[in-house]
Amino acid sequence: MNTSKDFAISLDKQDTLQPFREEFYITQDRIYLDGNSLGLLSTRSEKAVLAILDAWKMHAIDGWTDGDNPWFYLSEAIGEQFASLVGASPTELIATASTTTNLHQLVATFYNPSGKRTKILADELNFPSDIYALKSQLALKGYAWKENLIQVKSKDGHTLQTEDIMEAMTEEIALIILPSVLYRSGQVLDIEAITKAARDRDIPIGFDLCHSIGAIPHSLSEWGVDFAFWCTYKHLNGGPGSVAGLYVNEQHLGIAPGLAGWFSSRKEKQFDMEHDFTPADTAGAYQIGTPHLLSLAPLIGSLEIFSEAGIMNIREKSLRLTDYLMALFDAELGDYGFQIASPREHASRGGHVYITHSHAASICKALKANGIIPDFRSPNGIRLAPVALYNTFEEVWQTVQVLKQIMTEEQYKKFENTRGVIA
Ligand SMILES: *Cc1c(COP(=O)(O)O)cnc(C)c1O
Repeated sequence: MNTSKDFAISLDKQDTLQPFREEFYITQDRIYLDGNSLGLLSTRSEKAVLAILDAWKMHAIDGWTDGDNPWFYLSEAIGEQFASLVGASPTELIATASTTTNLHQLVATFYNPSGKRTKILADELNFPSDIYALKSQLALKGYAWKENLIQVKSKDGHTLQTEDIMEAMTEEIALIILPSVLYRSGQVLDIEAITKAARDRDIPIGFDLCHSIGAIPHSLSEWGVDFAFWCTYKHLNGGPGSVAGLYVNEQHLGIAPGLAGWFSSRKEKQFDMEHDFTPADTAGAYQIGTPHLLSLAPLIGSLEIFSEAGIMNIREKSLRLTDYLMALFDAELGDYGFQIASPREHASRGGHVYITHSHAASICKALKANGIIPDFRSPNGIRLAPVALYNTFEEVWQTVQVLKQIMTEEQYKKFENTRGVIA
């Protein structure tokens, strides 16, 4: 392992994605490694937001049909841009609502308990919002979550085993919801194998792609995934609260969504204003009300960057960045009580590295005091996300050097080992 700074710089020189870094607002003297929580602003996204404001200024009500990006069709247009990122066709995709709202919409549509099949299968490591949504959906249908929410257990507290997930797919399971990448350890689940097992048992299955979209490629249609949903403010750099996305396999299109609204309509019928509605025959049917145009706009710019950079190139660089980070950790930080809890093998590793330490919260605060932005995840995890579009190998090198200094000088002891309100 070459631990020299020159080596890091030489890796950056060979990096073909390097020009994209110029498009992002990078603060001087700060190393941002939190793009898996909130991606950075690009000048293209900024311009797209200003352009939407201009369209409002110029066109007022006619902005729905006039201008460069007519608002009435923008959710569908952005949906098409997700196609290469998730491996689906344009009609299976729509930009709408938020992650959690989309999960509610999809469960309201695909959870159809009957007879002995009443249970929802999830896992014990998923992000809490997903679990809250599932519990409330069970309650709405009159089922107690204690008996009807089955959460696959983790053997090591960080990862899930494909066999354990498959074993839990019993005849009582009516729906399966799993993350593609676990938000703490960054483990990538074997979506293809898990989907096949679910389909063999006729159980509808959906995935939460919040931590994988924009970081790793997917082939949702080919794998036969029934539905998926994701946010756009993490790896996709859409900005805080940017509009989310969803996918519904074409075999399910044409049915009415669980939660309907006038934007679920076929577009040419929507303004007929009839009280019997005609659902769109695309994933557009899963919209409910008027799209949040100002939060959709940044995606026009950011998804353009993804289509130019190419998700395969992004994945390739992301793996090299996280490989390099872990190798430096092994070489430089072996003696300080850190554990790398992310899977090492490429097929199971997402876009970030998860490191545990008994003083994780205070170490994160010390990193921030040194201009390095990680994120802390309760109870004892540090997430570091070197992002392919804007982070460099030199920044990864620098991070490990600073961390080594924090540990040798015991700088972290100056900070309380507790999380902030937003950690
Ligand atoms: C970030 C994240 C969410 C957030 O949900 P919002 O509705 O966008 O607030 C949900 N689930 C997972 C797995 C996430 O990583």
